Amino acid sequence: MDLSELTLDREGLAAAIACEDAAFEAALREEAYRVKLAAVGPEVYLRGLIEVSNICAKNCLYCGIRRDIRCQRYELSQEEVLATAQVAADLRFGSVVIQGGERSDKAFIRKITRLVRAIKSIDTGDDPPLGITLSLGEQSRDVYEEWFDAGAHRYLLRIESSNPDLYRRIHPDNHSYDRRLQALYHLKEIGYQAGTGAMIGLPFQTAEDMADDLLFYKRFDAPMIGMGPYNPHPDTPLTLSAAPYPSTVRRFALGLKMIALLRLLMPDINIAAATALEVLDPHGREKGLLSGANVIMPNITPREQMVKYNLYDRKTLNASDVEDLKEAGIVIGYGRWGDSRHFGHGRS
Ligand code: SF4
Repeated sequence: MDLSELTLDREGLAAAIACEDAAFEAALREEAYRVKLAAVGPEVYLRGLIEVSNICAKNCLYCGIRRDIRCQRYELSQEEVLATAQVAADLRFGSVVIQGGERSDKAFIRKITRLVRAIKSIDTGDDPPLGITLSLGEQSRDVYEEWFDAGAHRYLLRIESSNPDLYRRIHPDNHSYDRRLQALYHLKEIGYQAGTGAMIGLPFQTAEDMADDLLFYKRFDAPMIGMGPYNPHPDTPLTLSAAPYPSTVRRFALGLKMIALLRLLMPDINIAAATALEVLDPHGREKGLLSGANVIMPNITPREQMVKYNLYDRKTLNASDVEDLKEAGIVIGYGRWGDSRHFGHGRS
């Protein structure tokens, strides 16, 4: 396939996703990088990732911290989260992501509300107060409102697959595609920058499914996307079912290709170079940035807890690795929220 033949409709996207020609894939990544520079500039924004708890009430069939998996559980104290957020402020990351398993008990919800308020009052010197993204799963509209009013302004809720049938195959019966979609629309109505994303290279997933994921992001008008290759965790039902999925090399190539296609489809949104890329290639995130991504999320969770947040077998980018990115010529947007230009509220 030649880049000049690419069309950004379902058929064209699926053909590009299915095409394994290395020259085409390289040309596509180069074009996406050019579009990124023109639409959002060279800067890469940082989100200090704080994994507050690996306790989860849900049981997604692919997840290494699902309710029924045996693993050591933890929950960071308020003081630990605040000390970690202070590290993000001191490193001038500009924003933090509070991520954790899905819980809807009152104690957890109130704790997040208190944390959001406290993080907003952390001393950041001459920089704006830390921007806060939450990634805490499906919650009621009231809870989303409570956290928004406390000061969170971005929320990441991945759809994981925009195909309702595939969604059902990778989740237990009591999980609902429609409920997840409804939650995404609640976030948007409340005023969050509502981000989403899907896994790439899942068992049962077709090139058309992945094309539909891209078109779903466009239809939802998502200002930010965090998608990444499927990385099997050895003890999950999906892996144990032995359902086939693309090789490591293919999943990595697909991960970069999806970033590149999305950048062409939605030039001015924020696209994260996900941790999942780094698991498949030692320079995965750097390559993600060169394929059109413009956000990275260095993991600043205290190290002894980080290893327990075992979504899949992974390595993590930590604060010191950011220095390596700088040496690779990547321009870091220090001390800024780096909001999506697509959302239209960029503040700094
Ligand atoms: S994917 Fe999220 S909601 Fe599902 S089990 Fe894992 S942490 Fe819980």
